[in-house]
Amino acid sequence: MPLDDVKQRIEAARTAAGRTDPVHLIAVSKVQPDARVTAVLDQGHRLYGENKVQEAQGKWPAFRETYPDTQVHLIGPLQSNKARPAMQLFDAIHTLDRPKLAQRIADLAQELGHCPELFIQVNTGEEPQKSGLAPADLDAFVAEVRSLDLPLTGLMCIPPAEEAPSLHFALLAKLAKRNGLTGLSMGMSGDFEEAVRFGATHVRVGSAIFGERDYG
Ligand SMILES: *Cc1c(COP(=O)(O)O)cnc(C)c1O
Repeated sequence: MPLDDVKQRIEAARTAAGRTDPVHLIAVSKVQPDARVTAVLDQGHRLYGENKVQEAQGKWPAFRETYPDTQVHLIGPLQSNKARPAMQLFDAIHTLDRPKLAQRIADLAQELGHCPELFIQVNTGEEPQKSGLAPADLDAFVAEVRSLDLPLTGLMCIPPAEEAPSLHFALLAKLAKRNGLTGLSMGMSGDFEEAVRFGATHVRVGSAIFGERDYG
């Protein structure tokens, strides 16, 4: 089964890298038909990723009634005006990338009395069309997020499609270490083993588990 295969490959990469810390497998269920998601839920997997607030709102409350111990992480961009539903729904947000959003999350955390785990997205390839902070702006932003007393877990990146991901994984690991952060959200279907070698604590794997997404 694809889920078991992906888990075994993560485990092999983790062991080969001499790591003893866990690697969390986020099964990215965006766009997938409910039947495929249910099949993976039925195999006992309890950590999922979605990239749109509205899509996740449409399916996870119902799934969670049947599988109540399921965690869902937001891995796509978050607009400030969707911060409230996002904080009510998700256990972690991987895409914190600007001061305005950090402030909004801090205000809501006060009001709601809880806050998801946060990862800061870094635009390691400095691609203009991609969200995420420029590496040069990261240290100051980490300090700002910490001053707001937010639960900052780590960093996240999506390497440029046409470059070797290892350079970006290494950079993200270096930036995290420099800032005293242990969480590294990196690696997708095509490169999760490499990400594990570079220290990924959270890999985001969609199509390798569920099959290709049909956007038609
Ligand atoms: C869709 C998506 C993934 C999963 O991609 P696959 O190639 O299907 O594994 C991972 N991370 C983010 C941010 C995504 O949007």
